Amino acid sequence: MKILDGKCVAENISKSFVERIKKCNEKPQIAVLSLNPDDASRIYIKRIEKNCKEYEIGLKLLEGNSEEEFIDNFYKVRDDEEITGVMFQQPLPQKLNNLIELLPANKDVEGIGTKNMGKILLGKEDSIIPCTSRAVIELINYYNIDLTGKKVVLVGRSNIVGKPLIPQLLKNDATLTICHSKTKNIFEETKNADIVIMAIGKANFLKKDAIKDGAILIDVGINYKDGRIVGDIDFEDIKEKAAMCTPVPGGIGKITNAILIDNIIKSKEIVNYGIGSFRNSK
Ligand code: NAP
Repeated sequence: MKILDGKCVAENISKSFVERIKKCNEKPQIAVLSLNPDDASRIYIKRIEKNCKEYEIGLKLLEGNSEEEFIDNFYKVRDDEEITGVMFQQPLPQKLNNLIELLPANKDVEGIGTKNMGKILLGKEDSIIPCTSRAVIELINYYNIDLTGKKVVLVGRSNIVGKPLIPQLLKNDATLTICHSKTKNIFEETKNADIVIMAIGKANFLKKDAIKDGAILIDVGINYKDGRIVGDIDFEDIKEKAAMCTPVPGGIGKITNAILIDNIIKSKEIVNYGIGSFRNSK
């Protein structure tokens, strides 16, 4: 079985970063807004900090101690022309998450607001696509996996992974079946699939009895089991039967990090090159 290594895909994406940032007249600058961040949030923020430092992307960390302070910070960065991207550190109350809708689409560097979702649905070039969903497509393209005429089964329909993947897979001519927690006989679907994409967060859920010979498997899941990180696919179990599979860790997660930087640079490029009508979309 061929292992679909995410590291090569991430390196390939990152190759353009330095040159693209050089071409921007000013460097991209992002703001990360949080509300009373806990230790887990701080670890995630540190990782963003490290990535931004590597590519000399400006970073403003704004920690709110109350909802009012968070809201004040939000309006400041939304209206600051030097800030090209805004991220919300989760978890946040829904009321605060709704503020994303008041951002212009290009500043929504995680692509989670309805403006970007609409653009993705219509296949617009200037859409900012949620990182993990785009990571799946980048992997498919990197390994020249042709989706035309293929039966693709996507398991998981969350707003950040499954749903934004649907229009991207259709754009690539896949014949698509979407499964979720209410689907009956999921394994009857996966057994007939040329390609299975798992994004449910259930450790080792997909086993060899539920795939066909020579299937291509893409694992988005990240689960902690017996002190290890494992995916939604039982990698050891399927490896004699599948043709290709992504590992966990070392697969989609690696690419997701690179896509976030790519989205941040793209948000600045959209402003610079005036693609679409982002500046008027507040
Ligand atoms: P989520 O919001 O919890 O959504 C899970 C989806 O899986 C839902 O659509 C749910 O169906 C479906 N589901 C749950 N249990 C199921 C079952 N037994 N059978 C069939 N479908 C089932 O999760 P998420 O944020 O999309 O994340 C999914 C996984 O990807 C998690 O392991 C997460 O850690 C991982 N992830 C990885 C990355 C990365 O960078 N690699 C990034 C983000 C997330 P319903 O809609 O019916 O509830």
